[in-house]
Amino acid sequence: MAGSSFRTMIPLIILLFICKSHQVLDPSQPRIAIVGAGISGTSAAYFLSKTPGLNPKIDVYSKDPVGGRMATVNIQGYDFETGGSVLHPRNRYMKQFAEQFGFKRKKGISGKFGLYDGSHFVYSEGDWSVMNVASLLWRYGFSLLKVNTLVGEMLNQFERIYSFQDDGYAFSNVADLLSAMDPSFNLMLERSLEAGLKHAGVSNLFIEELANAIMRVNYGQSSDAHQFVGSVSLAGAETGLWSLHGGNKKIPHALLNASGASFHNEEVEAIHLNSDGRFSLRFKENDEMPLYDAVILATPVTNDTSMFGFENFPRQFHFPGRFHQTVCTMVQGDVNHETFQFADSSSVIDDIFTTNRTLFFNSLARNYPVDIDDGAENAPSVWKVFSNEPLSKRELDILFSTINETFVIKWKAYPEYDGTTSTGNFTLHPGLYHINAIEFAASAMEMGIIGARNVALLAASHLGVDVQDRKTQSFHIEL
Ligand SMILES: Cc1cc2nc3c(=O)[nH]c(=O)nc-3n(C[C@H](O)[C@H](O)[C@H](O)COP(=O)(O)OP(=O)(O)OC[C@H]3O[C@@H](n4cnc5c(N)ncnc54)[C@H](O)[C@@H]3O)c2cc1C
Repeated sequence: MAGSSFRTMIPLIILLFICKSHQVLDPSQPRIAIVGAGISGTSAAYFLSKTPGLNPKIDVYSKDPVGGRMATVNIQGYDFETGGSVLHPRNRYMKQFAEQFGFKRKKGISGKFGLYDGSHFVYSEGDWSVMNVASLLWRYGFSLLKVNTLVGEMLNQFERIYSFQDDGYAFSNVADLLSAMDPSFNLMLERSLEAGLKHAGVSNLFIEELANAIMRVNYGQSSDAHQFVGSVSLAGAETGLWSLHGGNKKIPHALLNASGASFHNEEVEAIHLNSDGRFSLRFKENDEMPLYDAVILATPVTNDTSMFGFENFPRQFHFPGRFHQTVCTMVQGDVNHETFQFADSSSVIDDIFTTNRTLFFNSLARNYPVDIDDGAENAPSVWKVFSNEPLSKRELDILFSTINETFVIKWKAYPEYDGTTSTGNFTLHPGLYHINAIEFAASAMEMGIIGARNVALLAASHLGVDVQDRKTQSFHIEL
């Protein structure tokens, strides 16, 4: 992957003094509204609250509980992750938050995985790890190593964003943020994962089986998705993945708490631009219209997710694209071993990924409670099925021989990465920002935090903080 020096990227970087003219309501305490209390909104609140010289008063609004798509469900007294579940070992912000708040990691339990094509397993792990590696290499050969190298190179470039953000640089749109990491990242948005892997010499077999299976479990989509999200997805199949003991949503709760922001369980309907450049919010069930110096949207905004009224702005905003439905079905019961041709239910492997695009489910995985190491060994046997449509009774019976309890969560999970939607702007209007524009590059918890820090820097600059000066003060946000 071609690297580029910092200097060549300068033209792409929006230095943070673009909108200084704004007169804040109370210069000693600017007022900021954040709409959404998932990882994006709560980390934006946190970053803003820790910005020297800003001293903001922050209100966070959400129509749903704190955590958003980081959520758990309780089954027979145990909590299980139903949304954002696993983190990559190189997700720096999530790692640092977990350490800073003193949260420990959930005990890792290694399981066996297999690739199922709808009639049989094209690959299945056995008891011997050396043999598993050997048979993977036998099946996919050089392609396995090639993809490993490609993903490693991508992550090296990706990590550059952390030093840019530590140095106070921010970007008004997603394309510029990606370019700063590596100019080739924008090209990856324009071609499919399949085309990108083929171009790199990866075999058709690897693409048809492994790449598709990993895209199906991570994004409910196929190797037709663009190469950037496809590479993020492939990284999500590496070793060393982790999650938080007690549930990942502990992080957004802790961030909100540490930010000192006020939380309001309200649905925001509209953002009104006043003649003095400030904003009022209009709510669904509350007649108040509070005034803010800056507003941050920390939620997807598309026709099929959330839409807002934007009143009195000099131009219309467009939020193209659709969100992919992923249905998460949690089943307490036993997998139908006959369907998968196992000898008995105790021989069923832990993670069944699917390679067949026409199959009615994307993945079937054994799940453990979020507090597995607190004596949860006796927890009920719970399986998580991801599918694009709700499972019928007949489909459930194909997958399970016994069903004691079922929970179904229909997520508008992540964008459809069909290459038809270009990435958008973080800055919608001076003082109005949209974190989730980043999701059209790739949706992940860490991406939400990167978007949030970018927007926090943009908003702080808009509110008159000399963000550039932080470098010379060796400023860094307390993580
Ligand atoms: C099934 C599933 C599995 C996933 N697995 C992983 C994974 O393993 N690893 C990973 O890194 N990522 C994963 N993700 C993606 C990850 O969960 C998301 O990218 C991330 O949690 C998004 O956080 P967010 O704060 O941007 O948005 P959200 O969590 O969606 O938060 C936005 C919040 O805004 C609120 N809101 C919306 N409109 C309004 C309004 N008008 N007024 C007030 N409030 C409003 C909503 O109530 C919502 O709670 C997964 C997602 C899903 C659905």
